[in-house]
Formats: sequence, structure tokens, C-alpha cells
Amino acid sequence: MRVLGDARIITPGGVRHGWIGVADGRIARIADGVAPEEGYGLRGRWVVPGFVDLHTHGGAGGSYPSGDLEQARRAFAFHLAHGTTTALASLVTGPLDDLVDATGALAELCDEGLFAGIHWEGPYLSAARCGAQDPRSLRRPDSAEFARLVKAARGHGRMITIAPELPGAIDLIAESVAEGVIAALGHTDCSYEEFVAGADAGGTVATHLFNGMRPLHHRDPGPIGAALNDERITVELINDGVHLHPGIVRMALKAVGAGRAALITDAMAAAGLGDGSYRLGAMTVDVDGGVARLAEGGALAGSTLTMDVAFKRAVRLAGLSMADAVAVTSSTPARVLGLDHRIGSLEEGKDADLVVLSEELTVVGVMRRGEWIIDPPK
Ligand SMILES: [Zn+2]
Repeated sequence: MRVLGDARIITPGGVRHGWIGVADGRIARIADGVAPEEGYGLRGRWVVPGFVDLHTHGGAGGSYPSGDLEQARRAFAFHLAHGTTTALASLVTGPLDDLVDATGALAELCDEGLFAGIHWEGPYLSAARCGAQDPRSLRRPDSAEFARLVKAARGHGRMITIAPELPGAIDLIAESVAEGVIAALGHTDCSYEEFVAGADAGGTVATHLFNGMRPLHHRDPGPIGAALNDERITVELINDGVHLHPGIVRMALKAVGAGRAALITDAMAAAGLGDGSYRLGAMTVDVDGGVARLAEGGALAGSTLTMDVAFKRAVRLAGLSMADAVAVTSSTPARVLGLDHRIGSLEEGKDADLVVLSEELTVVGVMRRGEWIIDPPK
């Protein structure tokens, strides 16, 4: 057993000052007080569960929609170094054959245990709210097409974002849930009632709440009002200070609580790199001052966010407790994925996926399945 001692450990039962024993890739022991044997002395640093990112398109110059495995590995490694131990690989709207090819390629990395699954962000989205999604490739929900995607994913199709107001969307939401694919509602111009119908059909996630959807109005609460009200829905939030004002993040978190919110990065290839010109699927994206926008039209086109920054912002700017910050970056998204028996909290028997944070909430150590990705300073 390897021991991480002198740690402030955020567990479901509260903060414990003690040690964690790791064996065979799992958390073998969590206990208070002084560790029984010499190990990593963490000098009172925080230990939190590895971050779970439901929605990310790439990083470090690598793009998941490209379907290029070397790029995907590079992007995954980049986010892993920022504490994301579990992630979906999100594709963007594109020609169906391209989506099928990228899905098949990424499924290999799911087989290897790199990604927890594939998220199809489109192609069944609203043209009025497509954001950075290529409007030329948007389609009407089609169950035969969806079956092709599911088949290409070989059991790794984990989530699909659908605009519930499209013709055939309600049936497709129900079909996706029947296939074990989480139905996320987003990139939508729907009414309040149409969103509720999407949830009734089995939708359980609101894709980046506020972004890519009809805005909230007091006489037309639309998807935002419906998602905030509906106990069945977990809302994704891009907490980068660009997509959402910190006051909106605070408001949304107060409305739904940490058990119903998942911070996501929606990061694209430029995350971790400097300003410049990048690709997101078929679209050209210019990054200026860390803000990614479509070269044509200027819509926000993903982010350059990482989960550690989202965590820190949640504590420092949205006023979350450390426990609630852990919930919105790990436990809640783990539950959405149905993986909360293995990940999402620091408990004996779970995977040893953990992040060591300094007093300033900067990542100084990352462990995935018992292996140090970044060794904390001794
Ligand atoms: Zn996205």
C-alpha cells in the first residue's frame, strides 16, 4: 500500500486531516491522524477527487472531432495534467460520415480506458442557436442515422445533445435513453414546455446552460427556466468568466444546488496554447486573449478552460464551499455518467483518482487509477 499522509481530504462525510492508502489502483484506506508508514507527506495540502468533465473537445492543439488518435491522446494528457481523470470526448456537428469515422476512432481510446465515452454535440441542433456548430451540417433527428453512430461507438456512445423542439426529437431522446446514451438538451430555441417534454422523454442534462439556447425571459422562461426548475435535469456550466458572468454562475448554483450542476470546460484545441487560429470541426476559430470565437460571425466557440481553473473560480468567485466545488467538478458529473460507484468521491474501494491542490488551489499532484501523473512535491 502506498500512503499519502498529512493531507486535508475532502470526503463525502466532511474534511478529514489524515492519510490515504492506495493499493491496486484503488483507495484502500482513508483514516485520520498520522500515517502508519512513510509515504508522500502532503504537508496539509488538499486532496480532492479527480475532476470529471462531461464536455470537452480537445486541448494542447489536439482536437477530438478530428478523430486523430495522436491528437486525442495529447489533448487528454493535457487535461489530465490539470486534474481531469475522467472525460467524455465531445464531437461537434459535421457530415454524418465524418461523425461516424471520428466515433469509430475515438471508441478505440475508450476501449483503452482513456475516455469514459463519446458525446455527440449534434448534429440534431437548432439552426437559430447553433453557436459554433457548423449550420451546413445540422440535420433533423433521424433514428437510422443515430443507430449508425451508436454502432460505430461500440458501446461507448455516452451522451448526445439534442434540441427538443426539432421534429422527431422527442422520439430520438427516448431512443437514445433506451440505448443507454444520456440525452442532453441544448443548442435549442425551445419553449419552456418543449424543454419539459424533452425531460419527460428522458432528457437529464442541459448542455452548457445559458449558452447556445434561447435566453431567459420572465414571460418566456424557455429552456433555462425549465432546466433550473426541473429536478430531473443536471445543468452544465462553463465557469470561465467569458461564457457566463460570475453572478450568473452563482445564481444558477443557488437555484439548483451542487447536486444538480456540473462544471464543464467545453475546451477546444487552443486550451493550453497561445492565441492564434484553430479548427473546431469544420469551423475556423480565432483565439484572442484566451477567448475562442468563430472567425466568421464571432460566436463563442468553446473555451480554453481547464477543470482546475473552473474549480478555483467556483470557490473564489462563486462562493462555493470546498465540498460543493468537489460536487460540481466530480461527484455530480460522475453520477450523471452512472460511474459514481467507482469515481466521484474519495472513499475506500473507489478508484484512486485524485488531485492534490495547494493552499492557492493550484494543482500540484494528479493520480489516476493509482498512478501518479504528476508527483506532488515532497
Ligand atoms: Zn461543446
